[in-house]
Amino acid sequence: MWVYEDSPAALRDVLRLSRAMTFKAAVANLPLGGGKGVIMVPAAGVLTRERRHAALLDFGDTVQALAGRYITAEDVGTSTRDMGVIAERTRHVAGLPRARGGSGDPSAFTALGVESAIRACCERIFGSSSLTRRRICVIGLGHVGSKVAKRCARAGAKLLLADVDRAKRSLADQLGARWTTPGRALAADVDVLVPCALGGLFDDDSVPRLRCRVIAGAANNQLANDHIGDLLAARGVLWAPDFVVNAGGIINIVEELSDAGYDSGSARRRVRGIGDTLNEIFDHADSLGTTPLAAAMELARARLSAASTPEVA
Ligand code: NAD
Repeated sequence: MWVYEDSPAALRDVLRLSRAMTFKAAVANLPLGGGKGVIMVPAAGVLTRERRHAALLDFGDTVQALAGRYITAEDVGTSTRDMGVIAERTRHVAGLPRARGGSGDPSAFTALGVESAIRACCERIFGSSSLTRRRICVIGLGHVGSKVAKRCARAGAKLLLADVDRAKRSLADQLGARWTTPGRALAADVDVLVPCALGGLFDDDSVPRLRCRVIAGAANNQLANDHIGDLLAARGVLWAPDFVVNAGGIINIVEELSDAGYDSGSARRRVRGIGDTLNEIFDHADSLGTTPLAAAMELARARLSAASTPEVA
């Protein structure tokens, strides 16, 4: 649920996000196709509680009309409680509260996957997966970013935090982290940049300003376009593809959908595998002399093509 300038902007976003979901599910080897829904909010602060509730019910009707071909779950602007409202109209909803048989807010699993990705990248670039004294900057301290920051703080990282919402500064105080603005954070002299806000952060203007060696974060669609992957590689920045890094939430949701019932331990084990998946992608990229983005997309396309080819008995 987000504020868009107009409906073409919302449509562009949902198409980009659904494409990323397809790649994400394929690279994580999940039995899902990938899809996305957006609820367009006309302007910040204008949505009354009643209209917000009605929008969630309408969205539930839309999901129900797709008869199980699309399953919805939380993302930016929605919560576990909102999934409960959507569930009044459809059963094709995941991420419901634990008390209602769901797996709850997926962001803790997304954050676990981001940590696994950061460690894999650090091993590759600095020769150690340890985060002790590693200089890490997290941009966006919402559901995922705040949990990533706490995990990194516990692991002994030197943290720099940023968010457009200045109230989030209290988290920096709580964790003994430094605080900066999102604009400055982008060009901060750190080892690892962890984008956990919205997409489109890296473009022809921002990439030349980067001073980090690694980028690994939860934000969807971080690159303004695919060519930015080449630009990052040319600048010597290891960029971990966002749709690989942030798959923890959906990996957890697949556990929720499994016939055997939800097992959080099994979900955690699979989410920690994100680091191994990234290593495979980096190795593949090195062997082909290409970027991690190209290698990850090639892996996704190969899996999608295998899934759409009927098996011969
Ligand atoms: P959220 O809405 O809880 O948090 C987003 C945070 O970013 C907020 O604190 C907001 O103030 C801040 N923010 C917004 N614009 C900003 C800007 N320009 N600069 C700095 N901060 C800004 O969202 P979330 O659930 O934490 O998700 C964060 C990102 O991760 C999104 O791109 C989302 O699509 C992606 N993601 C989330 C999940 C999940 O499990 N929630 C899973 C996969 C991907």
